[in-house]
Amino acid sequence: MTGKSTAAEQTLLSVTSEASATQETTQALLSSGADHLLGNYRQAPMVLARGRGCFVEDTDGKQYLDFAAGVAVNALGHAHPKLAAAIAEQAATLMHVSNYFYNAENVRLAEALCSVTGFERAFFCNSGGEANEAMLKLARRYQWNRGKKDKMRFIAFTNSFHGRTFATVNLTGTPSYREGFGEFPGVTHVPYGDLDAVKAAMGDDVCAIFVEPVQGEGGVLPAPPGFLEGLRALADQHEALLLLDEIQTGVGRTGPFLASEHTGVKADAIALAKGLGGGFPIGALLVGKHLTNVLTPGTHGSTFGGNPLASRAARVVLEVLLDDGVLAEVPKKGAYLGEKLAAVAARHKDLCDGERGLGLLRGLILKKGVDAREALAIARENGLLLTIAGGQVLRFTPPLVASYEELDLAVARVSEALATLRLRMVTKEPA
Ligand SMILES: *Cc1c(COP(=O)(O)O)cnc(C)c1O
Repeated sequence: MTGKSTAAEQTLLSVTSEASATQETTQALLSSGADHLLGNYRQAPMVLARGRGCFVEDTDGKQYLDFAAGVAVNALGHAHPKLAAAIAEQAATLMHVSNYFYNAENVRLAEALCSVTGFERAFFCNSGGEANEAMLKLARRYQWNRGKKDKMRFIAFTNSFHGRTFATVNLTGTPSYREGFGEFPGVTHVPYGDLDAVKAAMGDDVCAIFVEPVQGEGGVLPAPPGFLEGLRALADQHEALLLLDEIQTGVGRTGPFLASEHTGVKADAIALAKGLGGGFPIGALLVGKHLTNVLTPGTHGSTFGGNPLASRAARVVLEVLLDDGVLAEVPKKGAYLGEKLAAVAARHKDLCDGERGLGLLRGLILKKGVDAREALAIARENGLLLTIAGGQVLRFTPPLVASYEELDLAVARVSEALATLRLRMVTKEPA
């Protein structure tokens, strides 16, 4: 008998009462998931079944306030009526045609994105990592086209996150993510926020500076004042490009449509993904006027990129954010959540080192030595889904449509979770 069937049988045998029929399903799914999925994620022992607005429900019928929102993805929450209806309608009209042809949804989306960001043209793909890949290729090809064949080096930052593909993981400034995968040549990592270090690392061989306006995965770290402006100046000085990874910060997450709008810095190109499709997979590369003729036919592409279904989803997200007034509310809601989380941090001074963030991308900073994973698990037990960023930060990335009542509820639940965590820490302490 294989280990698999033993585990499944044990699961079935352990379930006796009729009342736990759904729990039986849950246990079977968890067990099968553990046996059949690759195991590259640390997945919570729960199975999500449905969602509406800011709430999701698991297969046992327990409800959670979802402030993970698919890692800053579900900008309109779950099952948004306009988004769900548009996707259903588009699926029944035209789903995929390839890029050998134009499709109206994709053209309209490109128009809308250029109009809201001021960039000139768009390329579409299916994820953040792919958008960054396109941006890397764009930058090297741009220099190569100008006859600068040795201008290939990228400046990236420690603690950054740019994706999991072969090139983007090597740009990512967290060594554990890169370990064992070999090196993608030509990346220099510099401390985030340290302009002098960037200055020292610059040279005529630098192709581009690659940076997040707020380090999201790295622990919700906004760029210090003047940092992006300084990078812009250094890039110009060395004829290098400034490339912004706005995959997590874009599409209104930090207040304005792009986080770089907080500064007025105009990048040469930016990458978007996460919130762009409101949960439907889509990524985008937006480029300035001087970069519209770099990726000529044959140099780059994506089979699924720009398909009508994903494009329609993103168009609806933009419509709801811009026309229904959701985006305009993000700065106020973000400031409100920030204030409340600062109060939570003050109330639990023994466990927290404060809060930080921009808009509705916020982090509650746990003190060194506080078990962030346990805090996350207790919040989950309390009916609040969050994620951890940078090891010690509880990250709040609610749907942008979250109400003030929902923000209050999240704050109450995380505060409760910290109180529970404190009790558990005390009981764990040796006598
Ligand atoms: C999530 C993220 C990525 C990677 O996006 P995927 O869709 O997972 O490939 C890249 N950069 C940043 C800043 C991100 O937050």
